[in-house]
Amino acid sequence: MTGLNSPLGVPVACRVCGDERTIRAHIVPAAFGRLASAGNGKPLKTIARDSRKVSNSGIWDATILCHACDRVLGGYDKYAIELWRSALTSPPDFKAEEFEIEADASRVVKFLMAILWRASVTTRPEFSTVRLGPYEPKFKRTIFGPDSAAPDAHPRVMISRYRSRHLPMHHMYSMPIYSTLGGANCYVFALGGCRIVVKVDKRPFPRFCERYIINGRDVIRGLMVDFEDTTEFAAMRDVIHERWRADAARRHTSLQ
Ligand SMILES: [Zn+2]
Repeated sequence: MTGLNSPLGVPVACRVCGDERTIRAHIVPAAFGRLASAGNGKPLKTIARDSRKVSNSGIWDATILCHACDRVLGGYDKYAIELWRSALTSPPDFKAEEFEIEADASRVVKFLMAILWRASVTTRPEFSTVRLGPYEPKFKRTIFGPDSAAPDAHPRVMISRYRSRHLPMHHMYSMPIYSTLGGANCYVFALGGCRIVVKVDKRPFPRFCERYIINGRDVIRGLMVDFEDTTEFAAMRDVIHERWRADAARRHTSLQ
């Protein structure tokens, strides 16, 4: 796909190797969208305050990666989607406070870094709050290069699992948003029913988090989180209520 121009008029090239033959690269792997619709076959719509709808075919950018570089990320994506399908979409245990699954945590960390790197380099407005700044080239080296950085240099990651008695949680995914935890900068997003926190900051996570940091482990241990108790649920409920009110007001006006 040559001849494309970025929104700034600069000729498009792969952000890793410079090849001008860029392809449609998904920011969040499309398989997570399909996972989201698994079971009922209905397409998933995300709920956003500005009514923008995102279908489960996912959001892609045709200006950031060539086929070969996109395939590198495909390797991380494949491992992650298999892990989610086999271990993270089972019915949740309502008595447990934690979950623990065997996994190659460093591959999961790189998979999550690859999502955030794509979200940072894309100009798609859905990801406008993800800007890795000085971490962007570091993430790129770790994801695409021979990873010379000690695993210690990788961003710290925590994964919790949502559970709900009313909603099928593996349907849940959201765009990364910037947040802070204990004063440390991080990005938070939902993916396949899990709540992902990636710290992009030298400052440490609060002490109580240490037990749940997955880096350097061969298991992922995380908290079970009741979805209806989260701020994410409250935000979603507010958006839906706002929509209802707006729709009701429109119907009322059209009757007059
Ligand atoms: Zn490339």
